[in-house]
Formats: sequence, C-alpha cells, structure tokens
Amino acid sequence: MIRLSELRLPLAALPLDPEQHPDTALHALAAQTLGLAPEAIATLRVHKRSFDARKAELLAVYIVDVALADAAQESALLAQHAGHPHIQPTPDMAWRPVGQAPAGFQERPVVVGFGPCGIFAALVLAQMGFKPIVLERGKAVRERTQDTWGLWRRRELNPESNVQFGEGGAGTFSDGKLYSQIKDPRHLGRKVLQEFVAAGAPPEILYTAHPHIGTFRLVKMVQELRAQIIALGGEVRFQQRVRDVVLQDRRLRALRVLDLDTGQEYELATSHAVIALGHSARDSFAMLHQRGVAMQAKPFSIGVRIEHPQGVIDRARWGRHAGHPLLGAADYKLVHHAKNGLASGRTVYSFCMCPGGTVVAATSEPGRVVTNGMSQYSRAERNANAGMVVGVEPADYPRDPAAFEAALGATHGVEALAAGQTHPLAGIVLQRQLESRAFVLGGGDYNAPAQRVGDFLARRASTALGEVQPSYQPGVTLIDMHDALPAYATAAMREALPAFARKIRGYDMADAVLTGVETRTSAPLRIDRGDDFQSLNTEGLYPAGEGAGYAGGILSAGVDGIKVGEAVACAMLGLPIPS
Ligand code: FAD
Repeated sequence: MIRLSELRLPLAALPLDPEQHPDTALHALAAQTLGLAPEAIATLRVHKRSFDARKAELLAVYIVDVALADAAQESALLAQHAGHPHIQPTPDMAWRPVGQAPAGFQERPVVVGFGPCGIFAALVLAQMGFKPIVLERGKAVRERTQDTWGLWRRRELNPESNVQFGEGGAGTFSDGKLYSQIKDPRHLGRKVLQEFVAAGAPPEILYTAHPHIGTFRLVKMVQELRAQIIALGGEVRFQQRVRDVVLQDRRLRALRVLDLDTGQEYELATSHAVIALGHSARDSFAMLHQRGVAMQAKPFSIGVRIEHPQGVIDRARWGRHAGHPLLGAADYKLVHHAKNGLASGRTVYSFCMCPGGTVVAATSEPGRVVTNGMSQYSRAERNANAGMVVGVEPADYPRDPAAFEAALGATHGVEALAAGQTHPLAGIVLQRQLESRAFVLGGGDYNAPAQRVGDFLARRASTALGEVQPSYQPGVTLIDMHDALPAYATAAMREALPAFARKIRGYDMADAVLTGVETRTSAPLRIDRGDDFQSLNTEGLYPAGEGAGYAGGILSAGVDGIKVGEAVACAMLGLPIPS
C-alpha cells in the first residue's frame, strides 16, 4: 500500500458525521496526487485526520493508505516518487508475538499494578500463552468508582481505592486522551489503540489526530480487557497489595502480598515480576529503596489547574470556525520558558488539558490535596481545564533529615548523603510537603485552595469568584496561591500567564480560576532498568510504566507494558528481545 500525507480538503465539502469520510473528494485528491485516474485506486483507508483552522477556510488534513487496482504498479509508483516526503510505502504496523509459551509451561509471570502499563503487559503475556497473575492493590473498577465518588461527594478518602489506585490505574477517571510524543518505531501505540477498539472504544480513535475516550467508556473497556486476560488463562486479583520483595543474591524469588480484604499476608513465588506501580505508590517506592533496588530522583512538575470558559478556548483556537460540530471542544498546548530559577530558566507548560471537563480531587493519601482533570467523551462541561505546571529538578528537593522524617516517617539514610547528592525519595518529600500544605490551606476538609487569576497576578487573596465557577468537588477555599507553592514556581507562573494569553486570547482573564496543587504530573523518581528491561541490580524485577519513569500518559504506559511483557516472555523462553 502507499501512504499519502498532507492531503488537504475544505471542511465545507465534508459530511458532518465524523464516522464518514468524503470518499469521492478524498479519492480524487489521492489519485491526483499520484498522477492517476480515480479508478486506479482500489481502496482508500484514512490513517489520520486533523484540522487546520489557521486559514479563513477550515481544512481537514489527511494521511491515507491506498491500494492500487493494479497492485503490481505500486512499487513502480513508489520508485518514481522516491524521496517524496508525502508519498511513502505504508509501514507494516502489525504486532506479532515474540514467542509462544509451550503447552503446559508451568512458570507464571506476575504483573503488579493493573493500570494501562500492567494491563498491556498482562495482555500480551496472556496472548503469548503465559497465564500471568496480576496483583492490584485497588478494587475492581465498579466498586472503585463508588470509592472515588466517596471523596468527591462525601469527603471520604479510601487510601487503597481512589483516583490513583484500582482497576484501570490512574487514568480511568480522566479525559482519556490517547496520544503521545514517544518514539514508536514498532508502532506499538497502534496495537494499544486497536486493543482499545476491540474492547469497546470508538473506532475513530484509530484515525483522529488527538483521540480521546472519556471516563465512562474507559471503565467498560478496562473490564473487557480484564475479561480477555482471564479468558486466555490469566488471573487478576484485586485488593492485593505487594508490600515486599523477597530477594536472594539480588534475584527475585517471591513477592510478599497483603490481601486487603482478609488482612492475611502470603508469599507468591515468582522469578519474573513486572512492577507497574504508577507514580503514586510511595510506600512501594520506599520499600523497593529499602531493599536496595537501584533508583534515582528525577525531575517532575508542580503547579495548579487553571479553568476557563470552554468558549474562550474555542474562539481562540478555532476563530470563526468555533462551534463547528466536527471540531468539538478545542484543546491547547502551551509552553513558556521563564527567566527565573534554574540556569536554563523554569519551564511552565500546560499539562493534561481537558476540554469541556472538570477538575478532580486526585489524592490517594489522607490529609493531602492534589488536583487533576477529567472529562466525559462528549466534553460538554462549561469549563476547559489544564494543569499549569512548572518544572522542578532534584536540586530543588528537600535534603533535611527532619523533612524526610516528617514526610516519610524515616530518614531513609538521607543524613549519610554526600554534599550535592539527591536522595532517590526526595521528590516524594517535596510532593508530600506541598500536598499537606494544600490540605491545610483548603481548610482541612479536602476542599482545595483556589484563586482568581486576576488576584493571583495582583498578589492578593481572592475573596469572591467571578464568571468562572470552579468545578473541583467537594469544593474550594479561596486563598492566595502564593502561599501554596514555592516562590520560584509562582514567579514563573506569573510570567507565563500573559505570555500564554498572547497565544490563547483571554488566557489571563481575571475570572479564570487556579485550583491546586498539581503535584502528580509524573513520577518523582526513576527505577533504573537495563536493555533487558530488568532492574539494573535486581534480576527478575521489571520496572515499568509511569511509576518507574518510563512513560507519561495512558498510551505511552500501554506501549511500555507491551515492551516489558515481551521482554519477560523473551527471558522466560531464552529469546532475544526485539529492537
Ligand atoms: P497507573 O495507571 O498509575 O497504575 C498503577 C497501578 O498499580 C494502580 O492501579 C495501583 O493501584 C497499582 N499499585 C500501586 N502499588 C501497588 C502495590 N504495591 N501492589 C499492587 N498494586 C499496586 N493520561 C493520558 O494519557 N490521558 C489522560 O487524559 C489522562 N488523564 C488523567 C487524569 C487523571 C485524573 C489522572 C490521575 C491521570 C491521568 N493521566 C492521563 C495519566 C495516566 O493515567 C497515567 O499516565 C497512566 O495511568 C500510567 O499508567 P501506569 O500503568 O504506568 O500506572
């Protein structure tokens, strides 16, 4: 097949049903691009579709794959256009198992964590015949939903079943954005999207430039993926918290598991475990650190959620095309390099933007407040929200043993560090400090601290809200957000707001609302692994996904899960890992 990119068509020529493509117009354009008659193209499949609203005329921009009626003509045509950036052979995007467990293969790999990374590690292992055992500390997604609402509606947090923990992982109550900027030469992201569609996601996620599925559909898909793993011989055990690793000569021998339902503890023998804990499993990170598993502090970001009326964003992004039914609620992506702080300056950027969504209470720990965002598939809520976050680096993290004692309940050897060294858990100390302070500033009842942008820029506490009603539940307490974040972060944000307003008109509107704190932007540490995907110093332990520092978002966590699942299969079968 031949892949053609940059095919542009005026949107006015298109039908409004997003499931349909303007076959004739696109067909004719593809044929014209190849210098062929339309009949010479036998089939045309849309690979990607995006929109370009920069011109007076709104354009749809396509990447398509075409098969010629005379298949033999394809290679000659490709040779004729060799080097053309927009006429290329269609790459082979199919996923093929790296091996197959022989019938009766006894050893079962374990997958810890059933977020997107653990789901895909378990799925590919099951598809290769391995019958994985999945251990997930949280509950099955239906029960978990009730617990999550408990915080949002009744201010009751379940520390083992919440927005971060439970079936589906951290992104289950989310916007369900499914794009990523990772390098993906093996097209594993395509496998993730195809499995999602097979599990009930709308097929459009395969071709839209910025696919999203929203919360309700994610819940159903996660259940379907679990059913598939079980049908293939795998096992998924909920409310099972891995609380220790049993090592012998730095090789994994077993996992110690606490059954949270019965309170019983047991040992599960295994020599291959995928550790896909997500970025919020702080107790598990501390345990792995105490067992000497190689890890290091890494940069992440802190800040707030910002809410605007969705109409402001739509008008700024789509101009006079705002409201076109095919375009939906507009998103944005913003970056500003502030002058202050680090030698290279602080980077302020929009994070996890949720068009037509809500800001959610996302803590997993009592006495702490954390924000994030979610939306439904329709993206029909009044407000647009996004994290507005500032990069922090290990040099910013606390070093004081007393701070470690307060945040982690132990110093973890911080006092023995040489000058200039950063403790692997130091980022967690910073996160906990900020989240605890936000809890207190919010009033100590899981209200989040919040402020109007106009007051933030004028450095005065807000006393009343304006046009924008914050969507965070259970509620907000108006303060000066300068009290909630380090001065370097608020200074960078004050500089960024007008800069962002030059790209999105109205971004710094006085009534926009800041709610915080946003601290779970990525893992504050990396659990180091080698080319064989195993921990650098602990054989049989496969750190994976966002918590280990190898993914950021649903799609990239799923892709990492596939890679790690393949690496486990290769190790068990004695095969080379695919590159
Ligand atoms: P997680 O999804 O965090 O899963 C880890 C799992 O491990 C959890 O279920 C946890 O309970 C379990 N676990 C932890 N410790 C243990 C233990 N000791 N024993 C047993 N189980 C354990 N990303 C996007 O791409 N698009 C979005 O729209 C988006 N929106 C988001 C909205 C919210 C509210 C949140 C919180 C996150 C959002 N994200 C989004 C980020 C995305 O969810 C994560 O990047 C992704 O889930 C990471 O996948 P993971 O499998 O590595 O970890």
